[in-house]
Amino acid sequence: MATKYIFVSGGVLSGVGKGVATSSIGKILQLRGFTATAIKIDPYINVDAGTMNPTEHGEVFVTEDGDETDQDIGNYERFLDVSITRDNYMTTGRVYLTVIQNERNLEYKGKCVEVVPHIPQEVIRRIKRAARKTKADVVIIEIGGTVGEYQNILFLEAARMMKYLYPNDVAFVMLSYLPIPKKLGEMKTKPTQHAVSQVNSAGIQPDFIICRSERPLDSPRKKKLSLFCNVPTQNIISAPDVEDILEVPINFEKEKLSEKIVSLLHMPKKTSSYPKWAKQAKKYLRTKKKISIGIVGKYFASGDFILPDAYISVIHAIKEAGLANGVITEIDWIDSDAYEKSPSRVKELDKYRGIIIPGGFGSRGIEGKIKAIRYAREQKLPFLGLCYGMQLATIEFSRNVCNMKSANTTEIDPKTKYPVIHIMPEQEKLLAEKQYGNTMRLGSWPCVLRSGTKSFQAYKKRKISERHRHRYEFNNVYRERLAKKGMVFAGLSPDKRLVEIIEYQDHPFFVATQFHPEFQSRIFSPHPLFRDFIRAAIKKK
Ligand code: GLN
Repeated sequence: MATKYIFVSGGVLSGVGKGVATSSIGKILQLRGFTATAIKIDPYINVDAGTMNPTEHGEVFVTEDGDETDQDIGNYERFLDVSITRDNYMTTGRVYLTVIQNERNLEYKGKCVEVVPHIPQEVIRRIKRAARKTKADVVIIEIGGTVGEYQNILFLEAARMMKYLYPNDVAFVMLSYLPIPKKLGEMKTKPTQHAVSQVNSAGIQPDFIICRSERPLDSPRKKKLSLFCNVPTQNIISAPDVEDILEVPINFEKEKLSEKIVSLLHMPKKTSSYPKWAKQAKKYLRTKKKISIGIVGKYFASGDFILPDAYISVIHAIKEAGLANGVITEIDWIDSDAYEKSPSRVKELDKYRGIIIPGGFGSRGIEGKIKAIRYAREQKLPFLGLCYGMQLATIEFSRNVCNMKSANTTEIDPKTKYPVIHIMPEQEKLLAEKQYGNTMRLGSWPCVLRSGTKSFQAYKKRKISERHRHRYEFNNVYRERLAKKGMVFAGLSPDKRLVEIIEYQDHPFFVATQFHPEFQSRIFSPHPLFRDFIRAAIKKK
């Protein structure tokens, strides 16, 4: 079978679940026995997501091969249970950079290099390269933003060209939103009609329209959209709001979406393992028992709204670990600034079954986080520290147990007397040269676990590999001093030079990692550290 390409673009407005829809289309085709992968196209000039503020853009998802990508890549990995590499992520900046470099290398052989066709051709080359490298039967390509934006015209142009070149192998899905204005109480199709006429003017005719709305789409509206948008009624797919993203593939299959795609793209009919998957998903959806977990950090607020997207993989990892342990995990966002202003409030943490300090950068709120860590250590509250969370746990222990009152990370206080977390010479050089983009310690690094530790118990093996994104490291000068007072170095790099996990023994669960375990949690296979953290949290009185 020739590789099949499915483009997913958004109409009307963003933020209505294009990433989840893309992942779910991949999932239902995967369950029909096809190998599937997904590509994200982001329309901004940034070469990667690494240089963007997470409050604005959401989490920077790190791939195994160290790419700093959009959080949707995380959705694809979790849903499809595959590891995705940098080949599956592109931005306008990345595409232009290649074209300009090629021009400098005389690769266009004296031709005038133009936005069209050279930019869309580079987009197509990248899509095909990802298809080749992943050997996937189906490649789903999510185009960021919404149609009608000046920014994604060239990507739509690439999609149009691909349809022209491979008419039997390319399909278009438009994900739209149908508002139900309160005053009218009626679901409106007009914005979707406009969005379709917009893509039509780019030479694209959607094969499917996925209709996001508060409620399921009824038959009169399906018929109306069909007639006005040139899409057969059966290809207008209802996608009402759901409580849980696991319901999205279920709703798609209620509408027989995978069967319709298979027939449209002339794919062979195979037996589907969907029923088995759906059984597991429905079991998860029936979970009732709840526990509450606190996340202490920053990056939550955007104006008047709480936008926890900056920690989306952490949220999923907690949820997936909870469901595997038979509980729903309710997350509370605790702004660590609060504990800086009124330290006694830290006692509030006792209402949680466990707390997490996620990754972060810079000085805001860190003293508050350190107070929270101390509370968790002393009060035996299950604790998981992620990246900055481990660095701050090291500072806390150095100050409060090892009597190094002014211990700090050189990220915050470059002149500290006790630089227990510091920067390595290679990293220092990069910073001095202002080489910030894609230069942190990134991607998967091996780690060797010490037997008898909680980490070893969780992973049940000695050698693991986990994803990183940071510049600062544990300072080995202090290793012995901290070990004497009870800090356990549960994970080290194979050459023993880098501390990757710290733990305390006389505590129900206190584990902090220099890496980001959250990036490797998958829907039905939770991360071992999150799983055991939740297990300890359930046991907490
Ligand atoms: N700011 C810290 C560092 O750069 C931690 C980064 C993180 O938590 N991802 O090392």
